[in-house]
Amino acid sequence: MKRRKFLKNATLSTAGLAVGATIVNCTNDKKTPTTPVTKTTQKATLPLVVATWNYPNATAAAYKVLKNGGTALDAVEAGCKIEEADINNQTVGKGGLPDREGNVTLDACIMDKNGNCGAVVYLQNITHAITVARHVMENTPHVMLAGVGAEQFAYEIGLKKENLLTNASKKAWEKWKIESKYKPIINIENHDTIGMLAIDKNGDISGACSTSGLAYKMAGRVGDSPIIGAGLFVDNEIGACVATGLGEEVVKTVGSFLVVELMRQGKSPQDACEEAIKRIVNKPNSDFKNFQVGYIAVNKQGETGSFSIHQWFSMTKFQDGKNENIQSQFIVKA
Ligand code: ASP
Repeated sequence: MKRRKFLKNATLSTAGLAVGATIVNCTNDKKTPTTPVTKTTQKATLPLVVATWNYPNATAAAYKVLKNGGTALDAVEAGCKIEEADINNQTVGKGGLPDREGNVTLDACIMDKNGNCGAVVYLQNITHAITVARHVMENTPHVMLAGVGAEQFAYEIGLKKENLLTNASKKAWEKWKIESKYKPIINIENHDTIGMLAIDKNGDISGACSTSGLAYKMAGRVGDSPIIGAGLFVDNEIGACVATGLGEEVVKTVGSFLVVELMRQGKSPQDACEEAIKRIVNKPNSDFKNFQVGYIAVNKQGETGSFSIHQWFSMTKFQDGKNENIQSQFIVKA
């Protein structure tokens, strides 16, 4: 299949989407109680942690690390591990939906306050991709390991081989195989790739991202999530950003790096996320009606923001001892 055709097929089923070029303020949804994002400056109490989507258990675990005096780096690893281990989450770690060959392959990356980073791509048989990514960062001279090399390294650091394909994901894949149509529903449900950003009590920022990628992707496909600058970027002087959605589109605009650079130029996290989404939407012949991308960001002052192409993206924030799910602003109303 020609690449263009393939990518065209790699879109959401969006029949009935009302499309408008104007930004729509969020509304509350019965399914997910949410709080609107406002553009007013938020008073930052440290520590704080934010995650893509509705991941209260992950942010709670990360916040606990921060409250106990742990670093932002420890916090984001701990938070991502919650979703990686949750077999009911079919987009991250164990239980993730497989590629079209039936193999669950994971992508993850992590970045610390000093600008160090580590990533794994196409990792199989290991639940905690984020831990492997952290070890790549801390204990190798490299920034990225792929496939069997990443898996071998995971065993060397003491992680166990596990079958990541749960019965539920196998059944879903077998059902998909009947038609084999490449139309994954990404980022429409309340759970997806976990991207997490944390600021510890010292004001230092770290970030992490972990995913099983697009369901039923081509074997060997790698998205934005393990690519530093695309799926995640941290600059401890400025802030950090993490992405979710159709990774190909995030890679093409180096999305997370763009958001951080926009904050460097003075934009708030909210405005920077909005501008980065508009870069995708305003590209000539952008097919944005048919795919989702969402960003969340924090700046050094502890302000946060999020923005997405389609409605129903949200950010979970744990701050001041409480968890909140914040509905993102968006361009296309569902
Ligand atoms: N960004 C991920 C990828 O393209 C998927 C997602 O966030 O849903 O692999």
